[in-house]
Amino acid sequence: MDMEIDAGQAGPGVEIDRERQVKAKEFARIRRRLSYVNMGIAAVGVCLLLFTGLAGWIRDQLRSLNWQPVHGWFPLQVVCFFLIVMLGYEIITAPSGYYGFTLSRRYGLSVMTLKSWLRDVLVGLVLEVAPGIAALELIYLLLAAQPDSWWLWVGLVMLFFSVVMANLAPVLLFPLFYTFRPMPESELTQRLLALAKRANTHVRGVYTFDMSRKTTAANAALMGLGNTRRIVLGDTMLDRYTHEEIEVALAHELGHHVHHDIWKLILSQSLFTLAGLYVANVVLHWAVQSQHLYAGLADVATLPLLLALTALFGFIVMPLSNSFSRYMEYQADEYALQSTRKIESFKGMMTRLANQNLSDVEPSPVIEFFFYDHPAIGKRLKHADKFIQSERTP
Ligand SMILES: [Zn+2]
Repeated sequence: MDMEIDAGQAGPGVEIDRERQVKAKEFARIRRRLSYVNMGIAAVGVCLLLFTGLAGWIRDQLRSLNWQPVHGWFPLQVVCFFLIVMLGYEIITAPSGYYGFTLSRRYGLSVMTLKSWLRDVLVGLVLEVAPGIAALELIYLLLAAQPDSWWLWVGLVMLFFSVVMANLAPVLLFPLFYTFRPMPESELTQRLLALAKRANTHVRGVYTFDMSRKTTAANAALMGLGNTRRIVLGDTMLDRYTHEEIEVALAHELGHHVHHDIWKLILSQSLFTLAGLYVANVVLHWAVQSQHLYAGLADVATLPLLLALTALFGFIVMPLSNSFSRYMEYQADEYALQSTRKIESFKGMMTRLANQNLSDVEPSPVIEFFFYDHPAIGKRLKHADKFIQSERTP
């Protein structure tokens, strides 16, 4: 194999579009403000529920739903309480959600109609509410039946569920939003298969999906577990990138495959979830047993406390899990550089992505630390430069 760096094989020179960078920073700033507004609404809502006696009042209104299949577990009260809280939040934040949609359209990213956007919002809501109810019922059942070890069981069930969902997502969930097609066999897929073979691994397939129906942005990903494992590539990438650039993007995804990143993600998230559940267990016991704030652990009025703890814990863990994700992305970039040695194509691909997706290439380090699950594109470009240098110094 020719191990020379193909600096001469670069595609047509692409550069970071400075005008689009101004727009990118503006877009990111408005979107961040929007998410702060939503967080603020959630925080105010949870505080109202927690500190004004509202949670107890709602529970009292639900008293008549006293079907009790297991002593202390009132599944109907759990469903109703959750739906009241959830729908309340969705209704109050609906205007900001709609504003976000018009914003993406105004900045030329979204090409969705209001109708198709609404449809996706509703499908997404069902996909959130149904597992949310299932998880809460399990939590309250176990709080009633296993008050000391409930958190461990819930953590284990969630781990099992996330493995099953990682397997089913490409065949069950994503088809609800996109249509996948196997990528037609070409010189490009041949190259990828050769790359995979050289890594002593194989991917089960390369698919493209109709991303262009919804957005002008591009993306590629590794999806699925076991028999559903695949690399997917947005059709918004196919016609605008050189073959070498697409090859490097696919090599990056292959890097995730070789490094078992989906497993690492599932395991790290499960550990975070377990830690969060344990903290919730300690706080719940304290609130019930030494503060006598609730009738019992399985009292449905504890639901806002659980939600508040989940949100707070998620907020604390976010920079940690994002740091871990950025580390995995860095390693996948390294793999793409090493396996293809197409450094200029790597840079070309990253530059096109930044221009096309309106990504801020140099966000403030604080913003990157908290919110970015991929390294900023400026850093990924520097990574490629460093790679060239390390290759030149033996
Ligand atoms: Zn990646």
